[in-house]
Amino acid sequence: MFTKFFLLALFLSVLVKFWLARRQIRYVQAHRASVPARFAEVMPLAAHQKAADYTIARVQLSSLEGTFEAVFLVVLTLLGGLQWIDDALARLFSGIAVPVLLREISLVVVVIVASALLDLPFSLYRQFRLEARFGFNKMTAALFVADLVKASLIAALVGVPLIGIVLALMNGAGELWWLYAWIVWVGFQVLVMLLYPVLIAPLFNKFEPLEDQTLRSRIDALLGRCGFAAKGVFVMDGSKRSAHGNAYFWGFGAAKRIVFFDTLLARLSGPEIEAVLAHELGHFKRHHVLKRLVWSFLTSLIGLALLGWLTLQPWFYEDLGVSPGIATRNGVALVLFFYVLPVFTFLLSPIVSLASRRHEYEADAFAAAQTGAGDLIKALVKLYEDNASTLTPDPLHSAFYDSHPPATLRIAHLDLRAPAELRTS
Ligand SMILES: [Zn+2]
Repeated sequence: MFTKFFLLALFLSVLVKFWLARRQIRYVQAHRASVPARFAEVMPLAAHQKAADYTIARVQLSSLEGTFEAVFLVVLTLLGGLQWIDDALARLFSGIAVPVLLREISLVVVVIVASALLDLPFSLYRQFRLEARFGFNKMTAALFVADLVKASLIAALVGVPLIGIVLALMNGAGELWWLYAWIVWVGFQVLVMLLYPVLIAPLFNKFEPLEDQTLRSRIDALLGRCGFAAKGVFVMDGSKRSAHGNAYFWGFGAAKRIVFFDTLLARLSGPEIEAVLAHELGHFKRHHVLKRLVWSFLTSLIGLALLGWLTLQPWFYEDLGVSPGIATRNGVALVLFFYVLPVFTFLLSPIVSLASRRHEYEADAFAAAQTGAGDLIKALVKLYEDNASTLTPDPLHSAFYDSHPPATLRIAHLDLRAPAELRTS
């Protein structure tokens, strides 16, 4: 029974993804010939058409990737892949007294490594073909390999013990294991937030204090006006990987850091950088960061409670291609849950996108109040152009996937807050 339900949901999600992709490609193509009126004076036609081609190329690659993922999922579950891996591990460990916990950890790790390996050709193609074709890739093959090795080592050092703790709780902590696992998860998340900027991020990038004194005093004035305490303003060498620009915060309390990509600083003027920072500050001031954190803790609690219930249902294993009497059933349950659940939650993504877009409007309004809307508009137009983000996404595709409102709507909201003389500059 659940097999049919699973296949139906998988079929439906693949169908919806294809339909949305087709809509997006058609819509972008239909609007490729001319720049939308509001942007006609600030966006060259060539940039508009580059954005259209880049958008279409990315949608096509995602469609292909989505199809591969769906096939992998069916092979892993209904076609017996997971059962096969478990049998193979049982043969490998036969004759040695390996505890069930270690077999379960091995099972989870093998599945994660297998799916990462299948994803690798897509990452390579994305970085060295697609991004390169549009002039965004700044990464060498050596850097790609170094990143991959570092990321895998960190995943092994941090992820394997975490999986081990969760599995040990599943095996021996009784009916409420999922609640204890949730507490571990929340603690782990908080630890990562504290340690990431100090220990992990510097392994991948250089962070230098912002040296430009004019910009620094501009930023300090803005922080003072907003009553925002930050532990330093840093510039990150994002340009060694990609030409895409960004600005972000990391950390909480008084330990918050502000990080600018060097690519962003190179492209925007002082007032525009200030406006972008004001937008990011808006996310803090309107409590979006806290809300997202609470939301993530809440959904993980619901997810783990659901998993706690599912592990007790024989059909959860049987109907997904695994023998319910399997010795490593908790390892199997963990894999099934994390690979099968997205099939069912995919159709909820418009709700998450909607909440995120509402936050973006609020942060834009905050920035407009702090620095005036004109500079933010100018900065956004430059960023759309530099990142080759299309100005004309299909409204439905956008509603499904986009964490940020479409350019036209976002600028229209800001136009209402900008003095008339700035609207076309
Ligand atoms: Zn934002």
